[in-house]
Amino acid sequence: MDERIISSSEQKQDKTWDLTLRPQSLSDYIGQEQVKANLEIFLTAAKQRQESTDHILLFGPPGLGKTTLAHIIAKEMNVGIKITSGPTITKAGDLAALITNLQAGDILFIDEIHRLPKVIEEVLYPAMEDFALDIILGKGPQAQILRLDLPKFTIIGATTRYNLISSPLRDRFGATFRLDFYNQDELATIIKRSADILATKISEDAILELASRSRGTPRIANRILKRVRDYVQVKADGDISTALAHDALSLMAIDKYGLDDLDRRFLKVIIESYNGGPVGVNTIAAALQEEAGTIEEIIEPYLMQLGLLARTSQGRIVTDKAYQYLNLPLPENNKLF
Ligand code: ADP
Repeated sequence: MDERIISSSEQKQDKTWDLTLRPQSLSDYIGQEQVKANLEIFLTAAKQRQESTDHILLFGPPGLGKTTLAHIIAKEMNVGIKITSGPTITKAGDLAALITNLQAGDILFIDEIHRLPKVIEEVLYPAMEDFALDIILGKGPQAQILRLDLPKFTIIGATTRYNLISSPLRDRFGATFRLDFYNQDELATIIKRSADILATKISEDAILELASRSRGTPRIANRILKRVRDYVQVKADGDISTALAHDALSLMAIDKYGLDDLDRRFLKVIIESYNGGPVGVNTIAAALQEEAGTIEEIIEPYLMQLGLLARTSQGRIVTDKAYQYLNLPLPENNKLF
């Protein structure tokens, strides 16, 4: 699953060039206009008051720029940033070690914050609210709580699953920003910018071709650009023409909507085995031998964005558009869409 070219999750090969392509300032950060406008006010106000910013929660599908935004916020505020993630903090001591190492005003970025264990979340509450850590000394009736005051800092939490964040945790964030899929123009600008940084020549049409297959996701746009660039370098003279981009993309089995075999299998299972739905995500996951979480996080959001899939309280339903996309006849008793 993770090796899918169009997986929005981070892959090992992304890391090396992520650093070169990652925008460094809000003005370089393409799209997400509303988030940027709100964030600008939020950060300017904090700067004017000479305070650290309130805790910020960023949510949206993988690869849309949450980590990038956290780095930009640190730069704009001129503070340090430490990076961690929910599943790597397993003991209260891990969190205490991270927080006590922060300087005043620093940012602690917690990726996948929905995967933070419950006990750790409880340690985080006073830390976020009162800038204090409650340390338990000793055990049993002799145990004592020692309150350790901390310098003010900012937590930036990122999540792909907003509904899995408990409400007490949500409440402790002063601002929540939702990142959306990028439109074609924005993706084209991102691809153009990346091609310039990588000193790769690419035709305008080829940029649009790549943009339409990037699933609205900058991480995928950059990854596809890199793959096409490799292809063209080996097969031709190194400039990306429309025809070469087309050849390279067909070789990757990504269609003009940015869908691959797994997306098509997903839709076909619902159509062929469950008459178009409704069917529960766990049932589909078992049929595809994928994890339900992966399906919810990576496959479904984009299919819904394209209008091929709908989520209802009874389960998943494919739309008429999905039948058309797969070139399949609509079922006789089709009544929902
Ligand atoms: P997330 O944390 O949401 O999974 P990242 O912040 O790691 O996503 O973004 C993945 C890559 O996509 C970044 O390294 C960057 O190169 C690119 N990227 C993300 N958002 C933007 C943007 N708004 N403009 C340009 N490039 C972006």
